[in-house]
Amino acid sequence: MLNYNAFKMLKKLIHILFLPCSEATMLMEKRNAGNISSKENRKLSMHLKICTWCRAYKEKLEILDEIIKRKLFNEEKSKIQDSEIQDFKEKMIKKLDI
Ligand SMILES: [Zn+2]
Repeated sequence: MLNYNAFKMLKKLIHILFLPCSEATMLMEKRNAGNISSKENRKLSMHLKICTWCRAYKEKLEILDEIIKRKLFNEEKSKIQDSEIQDFKEKMIKKLDI
């Protein structure tokens, strides 16, 4: 059995050697866009198991995507630009403080 400190160290090691948070968030975006490889998907799943920060980020990202999709669906014929969506996303992420 791992004690708490050993677990904390393992967690840190996995982040450094295996997949840093910055890459994990990038993979989440990739997965949302539907062009993630199965290898990347496995790496991401493992990261999410050990990283509470990224799990919280993922949940917020999912909520955000749901809002954006609903907005797009309701205003399908309107002139929303990709850059505006990106802008909206960034503003929301800042607001959510993640
Ligand atoms: Zn992480």
